Amino acid sequence: MEEKYDIAIVGGGPAGLSAAYTAAKAGARVILFEKDEAIAHSVRTSGVTWISEMERLGIPGEYYNPVQNYRFVSPSNDVLISGGTAKSCVLDVRGMYQYLAFLAAGAGAKIMVKSNVINVLKEVERVAGVKASTPKGDLTVRSTLVIDASGFSASVARRAGAAGEWKRYGIGAEYECYCDDVDGATWVLMVGRQYSEAGYAWIFPLSRNRVRIGVGIGRPESNAEPLEKLHDILEKRLKPLDALGKIQPVELHYGFIPNEGVRQNSVADGLVMVGDSAGQSNPLLLEGIRYAIEFGRLAGEVGARSLSRSASRESLLDYEKTWKAKVESKIQSALRVQTRWLGLTDEEWDKEIEILRDMTVDEFLDFIKADFTAGKMMKLALHHPTLAARQLFNMILQS
Ligand SMILES: Cc1cc2nc3c(=O)[nH]c(=O)nc-3n(C[C@H](O)[C@H](O)[C@H](O)COP(=O)(O)OP(=O)(O)OC[C@H]3O[C@@H](n4cnc5c(N)ncnc54)[C@H](O)[C@@H]3O)c2cc1C
Repeated sequence: MEEKYDIAIVGGGPAGLSAAYTAAKAGARVILFEKDEAIAHSVRTSGVTWISEMERLGIPGEYYNPVQNYRFVSPSNDVLISGGTAKSCVLDVRGMYQYLAFLAAGAGAKIMVKSNVINVLKEVERVAGVKASTPKGDLTVRSTLVIDASGFSASVARRAGAAGEWKRYGIGAEYECYCDDVDGATWVLMVGRQYSEAGYAWIFPLSRNRVRIGVGIGRPESNAEPLEKLHDILEKRLKPLDALGKIQPVELHYGFIPNEGVRQNSVADGLVMVGDSAGQSNPLLLEGIRYAIEFGRLAGEVGARSLSRSASRESLLDYEKTWKAKVESKIQSALRVQTRWLGLTDEEWDKEIEILRDMTVDEFLDFIKADFTAGKMMKLALHHPTLAARQLFNMILQS
């Protein structure tokens, strides 16, 4: 079977679904392939994000649990930053991604589930479509533009020779659990070797009885397997899990996320990379959902506009320039902080989280969101004049 579309999108995560929505809304004929049997069938994320960003992106409040307190636990320290109003949140990932799918479908995009893109068509040097294995049989789609929103694997861009494998990345394992009693307004990050040799563990609440408990580990810094570490933490009931009462996993989530900064090139003739495929994530929390939605929409808009110019690389550069101007330098600065964090011993972590103790909620959020501006960081350095704090904030300022 062979069909023609203006834009073929590979991947039904937040980036692909958002690109499908804006491209279809702009009048392009769009087809999206998702290899799983349902949108968000396999959850590969913890779903922590920021309420202001969700509101700006028009995501209804019914898809997230608001969080107002942020707790850090290290081997011998425990810091709580609490605030009046909730500014962070934990997403109902499946519900929210399917909401994005409905937006795309409503705008006219065709969505093919259980449809794995297995090859890329090339005409001379340009990408010219994809081949997919679908429930209706093999399908060849010829398209002016292909959007690679396949996540960590960047499977289309790699096959097309437009991108390489990620060398530095994070792996996370997480259980979504019933538990007797969790504080639904507080998320917790646990740092130090007993939780993760190169990364952190977390408790992200969805309600009083539903919580995501996970472990993230960085490669190549550690070869440890996050699922083993997670089992260990759960079995030993390491603090603060000891306060949650009965914990019963009901769902396992597992995934990979790039962690080496952004792709140098995110566009080529007939090809756009977006979301994890382009390295669009904040290294401090390894969070990328808000970027995937925002830059997915941008990719769809610019992609639709580029059709009149055969989706040439030049016609797609507006996309790359815009997203890089917004986040590239922030991601680079955040990587420097992350490198410092990956080198900390348990004792150093005990001291490091002390820096957070006198931060206001807003200061903390600007920091952890990697929402760095020189003005904000200079204010932080002034308000928190200890040597350790100055070192940390100066590290961000030196770009
Ligand atoms: C353990 C873990 C925890 C995380 N926690 C957070 C967090 O708390 N907050 C946050 O904001 N971000 C978090 N992230 C990062 C976040 O999940 C990603 O940044 C985000 O999902 C990127 O969206 P995407 O659409 O680019 O890719 P994805 O969400 O990975 O979507 C890609 C989709 O493409 C499909 N696909 C892949 N290859 C093919 C193919 N060949 N054919 C068809 N379909 C294909 C996949 O099945 C998938 O559905 C976490 C990541 C991990 C691994």
